[in-house]
Amino acid sequence: AAKREGKNTLLYFTRSMQEMAQVRMQLINDLRQALAGHQFEIMYQPIVEIESGLIRKAEALIRWQHPVRGTINPVEFISIAEDTGMITSFGNWIFHEAATQARIWRERFHPDFQISINISPVQFKNEGIDFINWMSHLQELQLPGNGLVVEITEGLLMEKSDHISQQLATFKNAGMEIALDDFGVGYSSLSYLQNFNFDYLKIDQSFIRNLSQSSDNQALCEAIIVMAHKLHLKVIAEGIETIRQREILVEATCDFGQGYLYSTPLPPAEFELILENNYALFNSGFLADIA
Ligand code: C2E
Ligand code: MG
Ligand code: MG
Ligand code: MG
Repeated sequence: AAKREGKNTLLYFTRSMQEMAQVRMQLINDLRQALAGHQFEIMYQPIVEIESGLIRKAEALIRWQHPVRGTINPVEFISIAEDTGMITSFGNWIFHEAATQARIWRERFHPDFQISINISPVQFKNEGIDFINWMSHLQELQLPGNGLVVEITEGLLMEKSDHISQQLATFKNAGMEIALDDFGVGYSSLSYLQNFNFDYLKIDQSFIRNLSQSSDNQALCEAIIVMAHKLHLKVIAEGIETIRQREILVEATCDFGQGYLYSTPLPPAEFELILENNYALFNSGFLADIA
């Protein structure tokens, strides 16, 4: 019986691995067509000045409207796009879309409004950022560089590389701001904060999640904020879901907040509605009461 079971187990694993490989192959094929077939859309999530409640920025987050599977979140396909090199085309597309949107919202709502885009380490490493093309797009739009924030993760900085520092410097020279995303998980090293000229530090949502239950988490957040401010970085807390979490972060002098408490990521038209509402409340002095 043991032998038969062993055989079945083997068969089971072989088959499921084969199935997984097939699913992946299918996704790769679908992904190739997705960009051409306009199946991607960008959702925008507000980034709020935590004390005033004013929406200052939006993070651009990609979604894939798969013709059969429906909405697919980025965790499912970004790594495939990275492995196949397709991330370069996505990255170019996202940059163009986000910059165009930033130009519109700056004009319509606030001249300092910014859109934040995530850039994969693979884009930096494989010459995936077409700086000449990106800069000329900004010029055509007449969008100053500081209309955009570039979000990178610590993984990018692990190996000390002049090539990556140069690319980050190119963004900075163009006026764009740089945020270190998901800070505190992964390969955190404080020397990154010294070696690179970041503008924002985004505290990972795992620290925010237990903020009101865990005094350790609270101590960590407070310490991160103090440290960041001493290094002249502004802090964005990710994943704020409750009023209590927000209160603790206000108390800790956090600068910006993002999370479901304010809004989930939204399609541009819906984002515009809450932006309109938010600015109207702010201008009439009501926002402070409900922030
Ligand atoms: P991220 O850059 O850290 O983005 C924040 C993620 O947290 C988003 O997930 C957002 O929907 C989610 N989130 C925001 N507020 C809350 C909250 O209050 N609670 C919870 N539980 N989650 C919240 P999403 O959109 O699924 O994106 C996941 C990751 O995929 C992003 O993490 C980013 O690393 C990557 N990604 C998304 N869009 C792009 C893109 O255009 N290009 C690249 N290269 N990566 C992207
Ligand atoms: Mg991000
Ligand atoms: Mg993050
Ligand atoms: Mg993340």
